Amino acid sequence: MIDEGYIKFESRWKKSGPLDNPEIADLVRWRTPLHLAGLIGHFPELGIGYGNLSARVGKEGHFVISGTQTGHLSKLGSEHFSLVTGFDLKRNLVTSQGASEASSESMTHAMLYELSPEIRAVVHIHNDALWVALKDQVPTTDHQVAYGTPEMAGEFDRLARETEFLEIGVATMAGHEGGLISIGITVQEAAEKLLTLYESHLT
Ligand SMILES: [Zn+2]
Repeated sequence: MIDEGYIKFESRWKKSGPLDNPEIADLVRWRTPLHLAGLIGHFPELGIGYGNLSARVGKEGHFVISGTQTGHLSKLGSEHFSLVTGFDLKRNLVTSQGASEASSESMTHAMLYELSPEIRAVVHIHNDALWVALKDQVPTTDHQVAYGTPEMAGEFDRLARETEFLEIGVATMAGHEGGLISIGITVQEAAEKLLTLYESHLT
């Protein structure tokens, strides 16, 4: 059973009109091949979306992320993005604004941006075959730690210190079935890392 689409943190979302951050164009551009490959999508039988991507915007700690439950859409517009303006790991709180509420995994994205100022984009996908192939072959979070939880921050911290995660920019989440994460200086870099892995493992 996939553990996705449920917001586990307290979400303080201020609904507004569509965002106008220029980073959205890049996110829309690179989501398309990820969605076509099924790495971001929707489980119709469960009625839940999976996968999401984000990009840092000017202010420290701020990023735009695809909104919750947008996985079924083949193309997103600016109304499907949320601007995360703050988070508090201890209180498990995420503050966002936009026409769409922040994805259920925005806490995980926020933790990753904390690791390094050079991380400017984060992509999260699901693919069972790739997950099985790469688990423990690339940096891998503890299988007992679920996505979107404060404990996951400690896990990414550990990967940054103890593994080549920051160099290769890809990790699997053993406690989040099918879940992989990539980071990059640009959205293109993060997206292409996973697309390349997908193509080389599955074709
Ligand atoms: Zn996920």
